[in-house]
Amino acid sequence: MAGTSVSASAGDILALVRSGRARTRRDVQEITGLSRSTLALRMAQLINAGYVREVGQAAGSTGRPAKILSFDEARQLVLAVDLGATHANLAIVDAGGQIVAQAHAELRIDLAPDETLRNLAKRLAELLTRARRSIDEVVGVGVGIPAPVRFSTQRPNYPPMMPGWHDFPIAETLRTLLGVPVFVDNDANLMGLGESRARYPDAPSLLFVKVGTGIGAGVILHGEPERGIAGGAGDIGHIRLPGATHRCTCGAYGCLATEASGGAIARMLREGGRDVHSASEVSRLVGDGDPRAVELTERAGRLLGDVLATSVALLNPSVVVLGGAMSSHGATLLDAVRERIYERTVPLATRELFIASSSLGGDAAIQGARHLVIDQVFSADAVDSRLELVG
Ligand SMILES: [Zn+2]
Repeated sequence: MAGTSVSASAGDILALVRSGRARTRRDVQEITGLSRSTLALRMAQLINAGYVREVGQAAGSTGRPAKILSFDEARQLVLAVDLGATHANLAIVDAGGQIVAQAHAELRIDLAPDETLRNLAKRLAELLTRARRSIDEVVGVGVGIPAPVRFSTQRPNYPPMMPGWHDFPIAETLRTLLGVPVFVDNDANLMGLGESRARYPDAPSLLFVKVGTGIGAGVILHGEPERGIAGGAGDIGHIRLPGATHRCTCGAYGCLATEASGGAIARMLREGGRDVHSASEVSRLVGDGDPRAVELTERAGRLLGDVLATSVALLNPSVVVLGGAMSSHGATLLDAVRERIYERTVPLATRELFIASSSLGGDAAIQGARHLVIDQVFSADAVDSRLELVG
């Protein structure tokens, strides 16, 4: 951003207000060095467009009491979607993170993308109706998918769990159906983003590991996902394990996900004659202390910990967060992962490392999707170009 330059735009000023760095016009003036008349002009643009309100009065100010500048979070709604293998978590959430309405829908991602996205758009429209809100209040849609996403195109990049979705224009399709901007990212990236902003805003690096039907990770550096050049950063579920032979959804044999995911444990329990089909069911069994489920989860944690030890040695992150269905009942998986990371790395890598379960649980991706949309829609550039359009 322009910082102390006199060329600070209306979008730059909004960024200062949103971040909390500027609470009053005087703050904006001090930070940007804008002249009084230019500042008045830019503020009028922001207020007229509904981006900023002036409310109350700043406490302890001397001289003429100053109004507090506020980004009107409650008025900016986001439709947030966490697409899983067999179901979706849908929410209407405001810019401040308040969930206005929420629904769970059975949506299969192994069907044709067209059909799945039409269903999704219908469910989102129903959710808005139920909450008595209108699409006109929605600034954007954020969608997390369990697949690598090439961020420059917003399209899935060879998604192992979503055959038929490679390079599919998810954002364009939903935008046509709903009429608002749509942003797509890998679900573990969004979960990591949500967790990072909510719980660890000062952590320079955070590794979020989702263990559900499959395994994926999100690398969050200085509050932003590091996606890699093809969207593959954090895709640790398909690292091959020596000696493992089971065929993976990606077509290869012996991937980490075929041995350490909730889906893999469900399979192993079925091989033992048990009627278990999902990661959530496995997680509940572990929470209930089922000996075989606990044993297999501990083994999974050790295998995952081995792979994560490399990531921890490479990144030296401040936080590792475990999320997804397998982290929702108790700390069996977390304890095994932690123990293995400590065993496999030098003390320097772990001395200041905090390893924990997700604090946002099932809504981590929803909150991440909200940040993704708000960051994009209210970036200084996006705001300036919209203000230019309205003249
Ligand atoms: Zn694989």
